Amino acid sequence: MSKIVAAAAIRGARVIAREAEEFLNKALKEHGPDARIGFPETAFFLPMANALLGLEVKTLKEAGNVFNYAKGLLPLEPKEKLWLPYLGDALDAGIATLLCEEIITVLRYLYKQEPQTDCNGFFTDTILRSLGIQLVDGRMPGFAAILGAAPTNEIAVSVVRQLQERNILIFVGSSSGGRSIIDQLKESGVEMGWDNYIVPYGRDTISAIYPLNWAIRSAMTFGGLKAGQGKKCLLYTKERVFAFGLTLGLVDDLKYATGAGAINMGFPIIADTDIPEIKPSGITTYEALVKEFDYKKIVPRCIEVRGVRVKVSKIPIPVLYGAAFEGERVRREQLYCEFGGKSSQAFELISMRDSSQIEDGKIELVGPDIDQLPEKVKSLPLGILIEVAGRKLQKDFEPILERQLHRFFNYCMGVMHIGQRDMNWIRISKDAFAKGLRVKHLGIVLHAMIHEEFGAIADKVQITIFTKEEDVQRELIKARQVYAERDERLGGMTDESVDTFYSCELCQSFAPNHICVITPEKVGLCGAYSWLDTKAAYEIAPSGGNKPIPKGECLDPVNGEWASVNAYVSLRSNRTLERFSMYSIVNNPSTSCGCFECIMAVIPEANGIMIVHRDFSGMTPCGMTFTTLAGSVGGGIQTPGFLGVGKIYLTSKKFISADGGLRRLIWMPKELKELLGEKLIKRVQEIGEPDLLEKIADETIATTSEELMLFLEKVKHPALTLPPLF
Ligand code: SF4
Ligand code: ZN
Repeated sequence: MSKIVAAAAIRGARVIAREAEEFLNKALKEHGPDARIGFPETAFFLPMANALLGLEVKTLKEAGNVFNYAKGLLPLEPKEKLWLPYLGDALDAGIATLLCEEIITVLRYLYKQEPQTDCNGFFTDTILRSLGIQLVDGRMPGFAAILGAAPTNEIAVSVVRQLQERNILIFVGSSSGGRSIIDQLKESGVEMGWDNYIVPYGRDTISAIYPLNWAIRSAMTFGGLKAGQGKKCLLYTKERVFAFGLTLGLVDDLKYATGAGAINMGFPIIADTDIPEIKPSGITTYEALVKEFDYKKIVPRCIEVRGVRVKVSKIPIPVLYGAAFEGERVRREQLYCEFGGKSSQAFELISMRDSSQIEDGKIELVGPDIDQLPEKVKSLPLGILIEVAGRKLQKDFEPILERQLHRFFNYCMGVMHIGQRDMNWIRISKDAFAKGLRVKHLGIVLHAMIHEEFGAIADKVQITIFTKEEDVQRELIKARQVYAERDERLGGMTDESVDTFYSCELCQSFAPNHICVITPEKVGLCGAYSWLDTKAAYEIAPSGGNKPIPKGECLDPVNGEWASVNAYVSLRSNRTLERFSMYSIVNNPSTSCGCFECIMAVIPEANGIMIVHRDFSGMTPCGMTFTTLAGSVGGGIQTPGFLGVGKIYLTSKKFISADGGLRRLIWMPKELKELLGEKLIKRVQEIGEPDLLEKIADETIATTSEELMLFLEKVKHPALTLPPLF
């Protein structure tokens, strides 16, 4: 390692260590050694110290232990030694820096100095888990942490847009010459936030610990690694987390020190200034430190240096296109024109056709486009009919393709899509219109994306877009018939009526022993994969993450245990799991990776089960929040008494049917009850307990076990009379 770099990193580490020490002493004096400290919503304490050292820091005194360890890592001042600084010393300084930065930021939380204005601050476990799925399915190829400020606001925006277009998640912060890229983006009106893939962490270099202690948690959450397996955690981030640092402006000692920390995690640093480069080191996959002065080339250079695999589909439309724009909203002030929602009637339909009936690439607009609207008209009816043909296409795949339309529309910068079928709602922004986007382009997008993602089953795609009221009304009648037929067919499908289940192994890249076994009546625990989805996915890509499991001999119809499922799960879980029952939370339950929409937990004293969904941040009667529960359930391990599930599983006839089904359910957040609405009401009627929903407590009734018990006894909840769970 370059001598200059190493010396700078060590100097920076010392500055940061001194700051940590002073801050710690101040806090000890003012709050005492037993004062509680911690970041919000995490089960990993100080994550970096937890992963690397196995420490569970909860008090100031314990933070002192981390500090002492970090101090021990700090090499002597370069001038105190007569050697050329070598790699090891700078890397140790980097680790010391990360540990000290974590101490400083957690103390700032104690003093309510974090999060900084307009910044996210510490990244919670919830965010980690909910983005996990995007990492596994490749929608998000990697992360960039930007530190500093670009020479101009335009350059800042251009760099960020280039990253967004490649679907790379961007953390922005730190400063250079008193300017932060956060303010450059704000001044340029760039929308930030998790939905936009641009997350401001803080305006100083120390807060760059947030993306790093977020990344290290993925090793424990998804990699099945334990706290304290430091080397393995670092190796994991190097191999699995495609992150890199991009410094804009002068690289000072603090940035070198933090950069040395990042390099330990396998994350290279790319700078726009004249720094000494560090060629392949073995710590990172390729170069560790490189420079690139050309802002047009800097993003491709980052991607190359980190080895990020990006799939960019260049679609010939006048606005940017990519997953990073998926969460962007088009608000009323920005609205040029909308379709559906409350404003007009709209629908979208994918329909299978015989190959001879359609012409690939034919995109027809019947009616006016949005540049032909009379002044003041801001809404049009819209019917989108997508006809698809393909030798391997099946009628069952129509709804699967149709569900993707939401993404395909939203990827357009300046287009917002909500809903589906005949309840869709599309908005086009003024900016997008000004750049030349027209309704017809939406057809181009859909045609290209269906070919791109479903090339294996779709040979021909023809699109007709209707914008005249009478056409939309006429086509809508036909579309509604199709929706109704589909629902009927899917509703009738049961685990007994099929001879094959499917596996989903997509999460194995994070939780190496985890498998979801998906049946018609049990969705994957992330809620994103139904039996039909996995069936289609297998037909589309037989070597992909979904495999058929022929049912064969049933060992136990009540618990839902099949010899073939056991054999398959054992084989694919690296022999860590032997028995897998589909319908029980207590007897050999399914494993949980970390992506679960909901977690269920047995409450022994109530002889029942509670369930909490990801969006509920409050306390639950088992004494843990969703986040804490998630921390103890994930990682691909079988945990009897706990189970991660998809929301819609609650409305399945096979919902923990071995354990008493819905009759066991004693607590759930109000919002979840409302979300499942009619479907849940129908189920409780079917099982002959029409008033069960009122007997299931929610957070307005009970958040402790005592309150819960009182309520259950008062309403005579059926769980109290069921056979014991264990
Ligand atoms: Fe992961 Fe299971 Fe969802 Fe597949 S179905 S993506 S394995 S959680
Ligand atoms: Zn998962």
